[in-house]
Amino acid sequence: MILPKTNRLTPDQLATVTAIVAEFGCTIQPIVGAVRTIYAIVGDERDELMINRLEGLDYVERIDRIQSPFKLMDKRSDLSSHRITIGGVTLGEQLFVIAGACTIDPKNPNLFYETAQAVKEAGAHALRGGVWKPRTNPYSFQGDTKSLDILMEASRRTGLPVDTEVMEEAHIKLALDAGVTTLQVGARNALNYSLLRAIGRAIDKRPAAVLLKRSIHMGPLSEFISAAEYIAAFGNPNVILCPRGTTPTLDGYRNHPDESITPLLKEKTWAPVVVDPSHSVGKAVYVPSAALAAVAYGADGLCIEAHVEPNKGIGDDPKQALTPEVLKKTITQAKQLWALMRGSSPK
Ligand code: PEP
Ligand code: MN
Repeated sequence: MILPKTNRLTPDQLATVTAIVAEFGCTIQPIVGAVRTIYAIVGDERDELMINRLEGLDYVERIDRIQSPFKLMDKRSDLSSHRITIGGVTLGEQLFVIAGACTIDPKNPNLFYETAQAVKEAGAHALRGGVWKPRTNPYSFQGDTKSLDILMEASRRTGLPVDTEVMEEAHIKLALDAGVTTLQVGARNALNYSLLRAIGRAIDKRPAAVLLKRSIHMGPLSEFISAAEYIAAFGNPNVILCPRGTTPTLDGYRNHPDESITPLLKEKTWAPVVVDPSHSVGKAVYVPSAALAAVAYGADGLCIEAHVEPNKGIGDDPKQALTPEVLKKTITQAKQLWALMRGSSPK
């Protein structure tokens, strides 16, 4: 990783370093942070001569050679001071809450508008709404691009930034062009490396954040952080890790709850952790405790499914969405716990 003396390299300087690394079979990937841009050397960065030539340039501060499978997302990376801000809230400075419907029903937009209003009143910072849905059964409702307009209208009405899942490259452009601020990568696609690469590259269009769910089948934490590394290595460092339960399932819960991996992730990576208790336990009645457990384990945020009338919802909502009253109580308690653990007052 090349750390320039200034906030970014000039085009001429970038051309020079690109030419040097190319001689050694490597390429340069700029990683655009809020203030600084740093430059990942993609390829085998161990060649001493290449490093010496780069270090010899008077505009290079230093070359970081982190021996880690995820050199950008590693806690020791220079990127560790990078902060992610969504809708004016910087993750890590207060508990960040995303809430909303699993699936937007394009035939009933008002249900989503009312849900969005309730989510705002409950104290959430961002609105989630599924436009395109990964469904186990091919005959189940697969989502509808029309719902993107409903999502953005709800965003306009509430002023909340929005999160939605993208499952293929075409969705990335549609979502970013519409104004989506957080692209969600679902548990089924968390190991879809071509999608992760495309999401990383899409930062050219808009510096969106990415909520990367933990895959149902992910075992070692390095597999999860390496998936985040793909997104960062292709240009977007705004990656948030989202544990959401794995298999094998635990009797009674939809998945095996995994909020307890939060402190382990935090030992290895600087990435913020936003836990999804809804898909983890899979039943509304268990969600509030799972949400508080996540905060107790040190989560930076929560992603919770909620609906004004869960029984009228589609997708997961009838089973796992919280009602507005329960959502509000859960968010209030979660914010209090977050502040209590850090000796500050709830925001
Ligand atoms: C969702 O957020 O509605 C969803 C499908 O999540 P996951 O990818 O975690 O199953
Ligand atoms: Mn869902």
